[in-house]
Amino acid sequence: QKYGVNELRKMFLEFFEGKGHLAMKSFSLVPHNDKSLLLINSGMAPLKPYFTGAEVPPRKRVTTCQKCIRTGDIENVGKTARHGTFFEMLGNFSFGDYFKKEAIRWSWEFLTEVVGLDADRLYPSVYLDDDEAFDIWNKEIGIPADRIFRFGKEDNFWEHGAGPCGPCSEIYYDRGERYGCGEPGCTVGCECDRYMEVWNNVFTQFENDGEGHYEELQQKNIDTGMGLERLAVAVQDVDSIFDIDTICALRNKVCELTHTEYKKDENVDVSIRLITDHIRSATFMISDGIMPTNEGRGYVLRRLIRRAARHGRLLGVKGNFLAALSNTVIEGSRDGYPELEEKKDFIFNVLTKEEEQFSKTIDQGLHILEEMEAEMKAAGSSQLSGENAFKLYDTYGFPLDLTKEILEDKGISIDEAGFKAAMEEQREKARIARGVTNYMGADATVYDEIDPKITTEFVGYDNLSHPSRI
Ligand code: ATP
Ligand code: MG
Ligand code: MG
Ligand code: MG
Repeated sequence: QKYGVNELRKMFLEFFEGKGHLAMKSFSLVPHNDKSLLLINSGMAPLKPYFTGAEVPPRKRVTTCQKCIRTGDIENVGKTARHGTFFEMLGNFSFGDYFKKEAIRWSWEFLTEVVGLDADRLYPSVYLDDDEAFDIWNKEIGIPADRIFRFGKEDNFWEHGAGPCGPCSEIYYDRGERYGCGEPGCTVGCECDRYMEVWNNVFTQFENDGEGHYEELQQKNIDTGMGLERLAVAVQDVDSIFDIDTICALRNKVCELTHTEYKKDENVDVSIRLITDHIRSATFMISDGIMPTNEGRGYVLRRLIRRAARHGRLLGVKGNFLAALSNTVIEGSRDGYPELEEKKDFIFNVLTKEEEQFSKTIDQGLHILEEMEAEMKAAGSSQLSGENAFKLYDTYGFPLDLTKEILEDKGISIDEAGFKAAMEEQREKARIARGVTNYMGADATVYDEIDPKITTEFVGYDNLSHPSRI
């Protein structure tokens, strides 16, 4: 029996509602009153005040399916089976209520009984000296000791900047030998795609003050996170997150619009997956009020859109194609996120404007870059000067990492310090000649006609930042 993504999300939330949890709507991707994070990257991030005790939670047991962005994973996207810059994190949380025993038991019950994964393919891990968690897995759940892995701080101690943190216990799913790297030491914890981490159970018992000092929290908490897409990979028994029902529909649309076929050529596939991923991120970010700009999260969005546009170019796309793709994102996810449907026209407008703006300069920019490469070759250099990288950024709208990506395959690096210096100089000039905002070769006010109320300072819509019952 195979469950769809939208069904799995519902099953998870209902399972934990059945265990006394309050199901809350996903919070906005834009953090609320939290300067330590650019974008929400886990289910617990928007719940921090409940963990620290700064705010009283609506109930001691809460469950969510949270929209997440992790740009730190961008290098993996398209290359591993399990990473996206956007994903949905299913979570159950206890604020000083239940602790390890219940959390472990319920995660096992959900995976093996509710969605029916094969228990013999599941492997738990615990933090090195967490014998309490080890014993629960071993004695209560009945997992043989040699199937429970003990890992160190890097994998099994969870923290994100300042705030609550603690040891954790993760659950891995063995997808089978054909997904393995084939190295002799390949086992649970290997970075390859065979043993896929699906669920992280964090036992939040400390508070990190942001400078490495840990204090035992008065109330012990549970914070768990399971990637919905990865759960679907295991349940649907498919190759990667790009093959699960909802994302597969989007991937097919990418192929249709780029006139490509999936699984014919690995380089083409990487581009297909990358576009598929980035358009999901962009669609959700815009629906939460983020606009493409040159700072902060707006710049994250701009980079994602432009990277997707450039890979579209690589596949031979001529006109705009991102808005059409976001339509498929919306169709696939509006079940869980009605705001997508509500903001549909707005999302299309923002994407189309950004794409049009970039397409005015991208071909020219690529041409200039080729000339720069020829000059470098003639001079026997394998480093692009900061000045030239800045020219591409400023005049042709090439985010630095886009230029970097293009040059990487050719063994050319960039003088990044020089780039930063050129950028600073430009900023200083702009400060002097106030009112001049001609970064990225474009008029920064171009978005004002879409909705003047929405700026980079925008911090989410009320109905998103104030949780309500689903
Ligand atoms: P990995 O080691 O595979 O990169 P992680 O240890 O960084 O995962 P956690 O921070 O523990 O992940 O997040 C909890 C869960 O969220 C993971 O167990 C996984 O199911 C999911 N997850 C994390 N990062 C991603 C991602 N980039 N794309 C999809 N799902 C993710
Ligand atoms: Mg990771
Ligand atoms: Mg991990
Ligand atoms: Mg983890």
